[in-house]
Amino acid sequence: MALHKIFRAVIMGPPGSGKGTVSERIIKSFPLKHISSGDILRANIKAQTELGLLMKACIDQGQLVPDDVMSRIILSDLRKMDQSSWLVDGFPRTVCQAEALDDAYSVDTVINLDVPFQTIKQRLTSRWTHLPSGRVYNTDFNPPKVQGMDDVTGEPLVQRDDDTPGTVTRRLKSYETQTEPVLEYYRSKGVLETFTGTETNKIWPHVEAFLNRKLSSVNRKAA
Ligand code: ATP
Ligand code: MG
Repeated sequence: MALHKIFRAVIMGPPGSGKGTVSERIIKSFPLKHISSGDILRANIKAQTELGLLMKACIDQGQLVPDDVMSRIILSDLRKMDQSSWLVDGFPRTVCQAEALDDAYSVDTVINLDVPFQTIKQRLTSRWTHLPSGRVYNTDFNPPKVQGMDDVTGEPLVQRDDDTPGTVTRRLKSYETQTEPVLEYYRSKGVLETFTGTETNKIWPHVEAFLNRKLSSVNRKAA
């Protein structure tokens, strides 16, 4: 589907709710560019910049990276794609970040993955990540073709340092206190679309159908 108007979307959900997997499917099916705050942070950490070290300290403790740092990084990346339609994953995570995004762009749709915390805890401990691309696998329901290896590059998969039980608990806590208010923020703007479930493979068809409808209507309005 070609788009006749720039479309801007955000995907939200607790850590491990499947944002990465659903984003990957969205960009395969729709002409949106993908930006993931977690992937950008991990790239900074890998480059061992001073900022990267500060970020790693926050992330490994299950805390959020400060709002000003985060907003600056993401907005500067978005500015580079001013003429494209995009999907942002992992940002905004606080109301302050949502306001910073709002000052720069109007968001057309917020896809909210609503997955119970109990499901998430089990899931994160069986998650394997291809760090350079951010591709994620799950040994239970979305295994790689070859165990321990990325399907696309054949490179090794790793478990993230912040996917340990204690850190997962802290990440869920910061999600509740800092990120859940962002859902309310978008709900009041009338752009929040919530998808509830425990399995990505069952949630995905609903997201796909929703975006098909949404983007067709965007095109009709642009025509
Ligand atoms: P998943 O990737 O499974 O959805 P997640 O959402 O917890 O899990 P990432 O989005 O990869 O993981 O983010 C990892 C960590 O990076 C977060 O726990 C947080 O410390 C930091 N981080 C990512 N995005 C932001 C943000 N917008 N603001 C502040 N910190 C962030
Ligand atoms: Mg992620």
